[in-house]
Amino acid sequence: MKKNIIRFTFTASLLMLFSCNDNKLTEVVEVPLPTKEEKITIGIPADVKADEGSFALTKLPFAYDALAPAIRSLTLETHYSKHYLGYTNNLNKEIVSTEFENAPIEDILKKMDMNNAKLRQNAGGYYNHTLYFDILTPKEQTPKDTLAGSINKEFGSFSNLTTQFKNEATKQFGSGWVWLVVDRAGKLQITTTENQDNPLMRNALIPGTPILGIDLWEHAYYLDYQNRKGSYIDAFYKLINWEKVNENYKTALTKVKKY
Ligand code: MN
Repeated sequence: MKKNIIRFTFTASLLMLFSCNDNKLTEVVEVPLPTKEEKITIGIPADVKADEGSFALTKLPFAYDALAPAIRSLTLETHYSKHYLGYTNNLNKEIVSTEFENAPIEDILKKMDMNNAKLRQNAGGYYNHTLYFDILTPKEQTPKDTLAGSINKEFGSFSNLTTQFKNEATKQFGSGWVWLVVDRAGKLQITTTENQDNPLMRNALIPGTPILGIDLWEHAYYLDYQNRKGSYIDAFYKLINWEKVNENYKTALTKVKKY
């Protein structure tokens, strides 16, 4: 297994000075302080597997350090191998021997009882993070093809979409997501949800199929940006795989009539 090891070593020594004014003698004694060694080992995404169950993790097609410095390896690894894995394993556990055991995730999100907090959090967390990790790429892109045409038609320009999306993300208070969705009429819209909810759920303000989503939970950016949420939003926006979003868009359009 290939591993990148980042090693932080803190060594220090304390110089203690003893002086004696009477005979002008100065003694220098070196007292070693405890050595603290913190080792952070970054693994590889392919080694992370969900427990046996209905849903598996989406494959991360790049290494944990591929998005650095915008999103650094420790953030990406923790997000993918801890948070996302946790939602996936919990969802798999939650649906065992229920009507949802073999259902597609979209159906679970649309049909589940919103008062079932565990299912709501974990089904949402699974779906949202699967989309999030699917639409990231190390190389900056702009929308092309069908999606580019629709963005220009419905938002006026890509720059208008960008401004609106970033504004919504900046305004989002507390943990939640901002989405680009295809609504029930097949129109592109920007919308927001709280916690791990998403626009496929019954409580959506603008129901639709998400084709792009930004995770605004602090775990998505705090290690890299602390309180500078705006810097994370700008950095994320440059990592969007618009080719993938275009695929999501075309797939979502085919589902519009099924609502
Ligand atoms: Mn997250």
